[in-house]
Amino acid sequence: MHKFGGASLADSAAVRHAVDIIRRHAPEPTVVVVSAMAGTTDALLGVAQQAGAGESRTVASLIARLRSRHAEVARALLPAGRGRADVLAYIGDVFEELESLAQGLRLLRELTPRTTDYLASRGERLSARLVAAALEATGTKAKYVDALDLVYTDGAFGQAAPDFPRTDRSVQRTLIPLLAQGVIPVVPGFIGATPEGEVATLGRGGSDLTATLLARGLGAARVSLWKDVPGLLTADPRVVPDARVIPQLHAREAAELAYYGAKVLHPRALIPVAGRRIPVYVRPFGDPDSAGTEVSERVAPARFPVKALTAAGGQTLVTVTGNGMLGVPGIAARTFHALHERQISVSLISQASSEHSICFSVPETLAAEARESLEREFAGEIARGEIDGVELTLGVATVAVVGLGMHGTPGVAAAVFSALAAGRINVVAIAQGSSELNISVVVDARQAGEAQRRIHAAFQLSRIAGGGVIQPERMEVVLLGFGQIGRTLATLIGLLGGGVLADVFTRRTRTARLWLMIASLLLCAPCLYALGNGHTLTATRLAAVAFGLFSGLMMGNIFPGAFEVVPIDTRASAVGVLNLCGGIFSGSATLFGGLWKQSLGIERLLTFTAVAYFLAGIALIVGLAVLFLRDYERASL
Ligand code: ADP
Ligand code: ASP
Ligand code: MG
Repeated sequence: MHKFGGASLADSAAVRHAVDIIRRHAPEPTVVVVSAMAGTTDALLGVAQQAGAGESRTVASLIARLRSRHAEVARALLPAGRGRADVLAYIGDVFEELESLAQGLRLLRELTPRTTDYLASRGERLSARLVAAALEATGTKAKYVDALDLVYTDGAFGQAAPDFPRTDRSVQRTLIPLLAQGVIPVVPGFIGATPEGEVATLGRGGSDLTATLLARGLGAARVSLWKDVPGLLTADPRVVPDARVIPQLHAREAAELAYYGAKVLHPRALIPVAGRRIPVYVRPFGDPDSAGTEVSERVAPARFPVKALTAAGGQTLVTVTGNGMLGVPGIAARTFHALHERQISVSLISQASSEHSICFSVPETLAAEARESLEREFAGEIARGEIDGVELTLGVATVAVVGLGMHGTPGVAAAVFSALAAGRINVVAIAQGSSELNISVVVDARQAGEAQRRIHAAFQLSRIAGGGVIQPERMEVVLLGFGQIGRTLATLIGLLGGGVLADVFTRRTRTARLWLMIASLLLCAPCLYALGNGHTLTATRLAAVAFGLFSGLMMGNIFPGAFEVVPIDTRASAVGVLNLCGGIFSGSATLFGGLWKQSLGIERLLTFTAVAYFLAGIALIVGLAVLFLRDYERASL
């Protein structure tokens, strides 16, 4: 099952690239689900809104732009002939219908969720026709199959929920015969049929859900979601620049991320494949050979207690407070019942054990309605002064910190809160599920970005898969112990300025590295020389730091980022630290024996260590030779 997201279908070159990817996998039975071309859904929703508001000019230009864009792609993609003519005729029909619909909306000035869905469904249908025709143009057997013949839903316009058994049956009935004939079905994502046979959308980003739904019905071997990112990342790359690809993620972790607002997956996309052994891959459209992220249920608990974070903005915190709530049963039940009656969904709930207040978050757009419904529900209690009232805290965001490994790992919450405290970010509310899969903190929306960057850094998530830092912003040096070596390094950093070191380690300027390497090697010799002259303390320190710098740089070639100065006696903690950080910057040679292999299991690193030893050995020999020669001179004098 391959799904191509909107961002991956931006123009004719992108569609051609998608066709290449499909053809490459085509020897296997293949089904393709497509989103609307980039920006199309937004434009169609714009058409609906503007037309509903009676704006005729913007509507006409929006429609004209969409129409010419689709027609251009068809012309660029398809050779002149019947295939092209059919698609162009289809595009013409769709936009004519769209125009008359918009006209009707303008007159009626009434926009219903039903009409909105009808309009939005055109985007996916257009792109699926284009992709099917483009596949056929390359001689591949492909067929457009409409989603209304496959996906059945409860008919809730705007966020329809799929009917699994019915969808399973129709998917098997319709798609299996096509696959048996070697035909690639191309299906528009995002939409399904209501019980009355009308079109309803599955909610924004719904094509992900279409793909997993069809995969479920077919018992597919895997689902590939081709997107404009290198995989599922530790955080939204637009917010946290050094976010990293997570190679493997447990389905529960991914579901939690999606649910808490990570835009990369539809919140319910993983439900259809739960317990079905159908792995879902989030893969980079721009780099089809790269593995991306595997989301499945067979992922072993990782070394990282926290794997990723996400934030849902546009939230309001609603608080019901009052002394009269203490020990009174049913307050929580009535609160949520009142919200349920208005179909308001709550995403985070927190109640202190004092039972003095209950607070929860709702989308900003529903906050006023939530308050009103609660004030009505508790009118009696409010009049009697048992409940003070319902307060709204506007403009907050929920930052969710997710990872299966958090379960039973002490100190995760503490690390989250210290990271926030260090950034002077006030925590408005917190919640942690008993599954310990997620810690959610509510912060001021304006600080949500900084909060994510701080938490990301605190858990060293930029090291999750090893490898280089994509966009290093800062380098963190952790001194484990502050003895001779640590103190000397601190002085050195003070002298050089942290910026220089950070440059060398993270920006990977080769010449800078080379010079530092030579300098630290050269430093080794005079230090050892000085050692022989009785300047023991300073000399040992300098020699240690020089060797440390040198080996750190060697390691830094593979694992740039954080380095620790580790004295000999902290060997055990060094193993722990290595699990979190990429490298250890050490003045202690004993640390190297076997440690790297044991904790990282990377042979290549051993080779580097060997080279480091070899060069350090030369420095040692040079130093000893100088000493020897000097003594020899003295003796001969
Ligand atoms: P599609 O094209 O398949 O619809 P989306 O645009 O829905 O893909 O999802 C990809 C986008 O999600 C990325 O461009 C990225 O900006 C955003 N995003 C947010 N959080 C994450 C995350 N944790 N990992 C990857 N992408 C993320
Ligand atoms: N085109 C729809 C949207 O933009 C569905 C999707 O992309 O998955 O939300
Ligand atoms: Mg999407």
